Amino acid sequence: MSLPGPIDPPARLLMGPGPITADPRVLRAMSAQLVGQYDPFMTDAMNEVMGLYRQVFVTGNQQTLLIDSTARGAIEAALVSLLEPGDRVLVPVMGRFGHLLVEIAQRCGAEVHTVDIEWGRIAELDVIEAALERVRPTLLATVHGDTSTTVLQPFDGLKELCERYDCLLYADVTATIGGNPFLTDAWGVDAATGGLQKCLGGPSGSAPATFSARAVEVIERRKSIEAGIRAEGDAVAAHPIRSNYFDLGMIFDYWSSRRLNHHTEATTMLYGARECARLVLEEGLEAYQARHALHGRAMLAGVQGLGLEVFGDLEHKMANIVGVAIPDGVDGEAVRGTMLADFGIEIGTSFGPLAGRVWRIGTMGYNARTDAVLTTLSALETVLRRVGVAVPTGGGVDAAYDAYGAAA
Ligand SMILES: *Cc1c(COP(=O)(O)O)cnc(C)c1O
Repeated sequence: MSLPGPIDPPARLLMGPGPITADPRVLRAMSAQLVGQYDPFMTDAMNEVMGLYRQVFVTGNQQTLLIDSTARGAIEAALVSLLEPGDRVLVPVMGRFGHLLVEIAQRCGAEVHTVDIEWGRIAELDVIEAALERVRPTLLATVHGDTSTTVLQPFDGLKELCERYDCLLYADVTATIGGNPFLTDAWGVDAATGGLQKCLGGPSGSAPATFSARAVEVIERRKSIEAGIRAEGDAVAAHPIRSNYFDLGMIFDYWSSRRLNHHTEATTMLYGARECARLVLEEGLEAYQARHALHGRAMLAGVQGLGLEVFGDLEHKMANIVGVAIPDGVDGEAVRGTMLADFGIEIGTSFGPLAGRVWRIGTMGYNARTDAVLTTLSALETVLRRVGVAVPTGGGVDAAYDAYGAAA
């Protein structure tokens, strides 16, 4: 058996729902040398990361940190730490990731109630209110932007509802953070978890997250301190969080000045996450979001310019992704295959009720760029024509140019 060669991936332009092409600056940051877990350089870098992500999440939350896992792990950390078996939780299910919240909350032993919304639509405030009134949950858990449907859930009014019905508010912001406005404190969000591989322009494997004082209080009551490092005066929780790795109380203790050992912080991922936040804040959070809005609009105009139907409620579309109806009679997977093989461009497929019906094209992070948008539209036009779809010549690129012109 011969030894596989060093890793040498092909050149790709990742224009799907994530991961997207990482910003080269993030990759360079991730090639920096390791330091020890408690090296002052490392603990300073952890503190810097907390400060940077407070700005990205627009929050004053002390507990703003990285969870060492992909976004899914961070969702699990939040839910397993906030929910006790038997707690009631309400989840508006509007797409694939709503189903994921249900699945994880069920595994936490919670009593899960859902509001089921047709894919492609938002959950209206009065529908959520009626469910809160009926269920009286301790937690309302919702996805902010569900990449499976491209729809952005409005948060207006949720803060007041959660106050009235006395429940915590959790948001999965994996696909939206950085590229779409998200105001943790102003919107009354108690817990929000993200990931690097969508709008933040990094790889998957680290999840920025933030927790309000109310959420921290719930978690602290249930946190454990492991026998080997427990000090005199440290209480033992009566109902400990049912995960060790994802015990947020222990993770808080590790990121706090106590620096109680938990796992070894994923140093290389932290370097990457730090650079992702620096990219956002150097450009300016609002400018970063405006760039996502601009290139998202251009991509939307472009696919419409090709005469393609767009999926979902456009009034509430995420800035960074568009769902494109696969024309009748076209093999969506064959088109994706040709885009990849001949142009090196990846666009996304869909899940569940949308499988085989919708492609998803992302414009986010490093790839929220004019050249990435125009190249993708141009390649899509060519591939569609070759499979027999009568697309207008130059219709996609021209419409995108117009969108850029109109914005300038
Ligand atoms: C991509 C995504 C996830 C899952 O992220 P992983 O890093 O793959 O675990 C979760 N929620 C939403 C809304 C996403 O878009």
